[in-house]
Amino acid sequence: MRKAIFLDRDGLINRQAAPHHYISDPKDFEILPGVPEAIKRLNDAGFLVIVVTNQRGVARGMLTMEQVETVHRYLQSELGKHGAHIDAIYVCPHADGECTCRKPDIGLFLKAEKDFDIDKRRSWMVGDSDTDVEAGERYGVRPILTKSLLQAVNMILAG
Ligand SMILES: [Mg+2]
Ligand SMILES: [Zn+2]
Repeated sequence: MRKAIFLDRDGLINRQAAPHHYISDPKDFEILPGVPEAIKRLNDAGFLVIVVTNQRGVARGMLTMEQVETVHRYLQSELGKHGAHIDAIYVCPHADGECTCRKPDIGLFLKAEKDFDIDKRRSWMVGDSDTDVEAGERYGVRPILTKSLLQAVNMILAG
């Protein structure tokens, strides 16, 4: 069993896009300060690092899953420059009310559970919005609401 950190993406890992804008290109994907360092610390501490992200722009036809995946390959390659990596990224591409995976629903967490042997009692959900906190609570891991991933990680690792 592995301890895991579930991370929101937009507003935590990368700067939030303007309202009604979606990040479809790596050039618009701005990794926030401290994020590579925070993820490296989680890797080194033995946490699975799992991103769970709502991307309803896909359902709205504003971006494609291929574009989302291109952005995620860019993210991984930038993290790699710092010796950090994300173990898996799960995306909800659906609109409100169309699925059971859009946070605060927990479908993305259940997908992760199929791929990894997760010890929920030692796991966390970190995000910048109430829906992240609600999803973490519903799934049964400890939630942290923050704008700074590094701060949250330092708190977690300090015990
Ligand atoms: Mg967010
Ligand atoms: Zn969904």
